[in-house]
Amino acid sequence: MPELPEVETIRAQLAPRLEGRVLERVEILDPRLTRPHDLFEVAEELEGDRVAAVGRRGKYLVLRLESGLALLVHLRMTGGFGWEPASHERAVVELDDGTRVVYRDVRRFGTWLVLDGVDVEPYLTGKIGPEPLGPRFTAGWLAAQLARRRAPLKAVLLDQRVVAGLGNIYADEALWRARLSPLRPAYGLDADEVARLHRAIRAALRMGIARQGSTLSDYAAPDGSPGSMQDEFRVYGQEGEPCPRCGTQIAKTRVGGRGTWYCPRCQPLPAAR
Ligand SMILES: [Zn+2]
Repeated sequence: MPELPEVETIRAQLAPRLEGRVLERVEILDPRLTRPHDLFEVAEELEGDRVAAVGRRGKYLVLRLESGLALLVHLRMTGGFGWEPASHERAVVELDDGTRVVYRDVRRFGTWLVLDGVDVEPYLTGKIGPEPLGPRFTAGWLAAQLARRRAPLKAVLLDQRVVAGLGNIYADEALWRARLSPLRPAYGLDADEVARLHRAIRAALRMGIARQGSTLSDYAAPDGSPGSMQDEFRVYGQEGEPCPRCGTQIAKTRVGGRGTWYCPRCQPLPAAR
């Protein structure tokens, strides 16, 4: 599933091709994409509008249009954009310069929602927290979120209201960087540990963006180029490999139903203290 770095990579490739261009023809091929709204009505709302900006909030792509409307795209499991004809095409947009933009989605969980631009933030508030690389995501804010939660730390980090855009990969990488067990109750962290975690979340996401995301089974950037973050994984998917910091074998467990990788030595449970 694409996380913040993958969605940011997609945004960065879409922006120069789409900004300033008119959505000349919009063809939505799958009613699930716009549900509960009618796909023809959504296509009609978009057609003829000009793209003012391609932005991102958490894992959402936000296409701001000159009319004041905005298209909110969530890729969910397997959504993605490209310039070439693809299998599993769910929508096709032709731009006024002749570019054909394809939206493909194998598992069909992705969504397109048209909103008034002014309604985007109110719609997202309550669904996702502040941008983890933005100024509102502070160590103090993170501390307040964790202090109220008894669930395992990793499960709380996957809550999009706590860290917008963080998913399974970057949560594991951030916890390893912060030397914190994914299994610890979230409320038990001291100020120093929260500060470490705050820095680690940002560092893991920045590394992912710098490497243009990770290319696993279902993700590819619009130009088809692979990201290289998978070559930088310290723990994610590295069961049995040596920890890059201490050499201990990376272990795998499950937290909240998600595969979770960690170093048993660098990331101990605090019960031992
Ligand atoms: Zn280690």
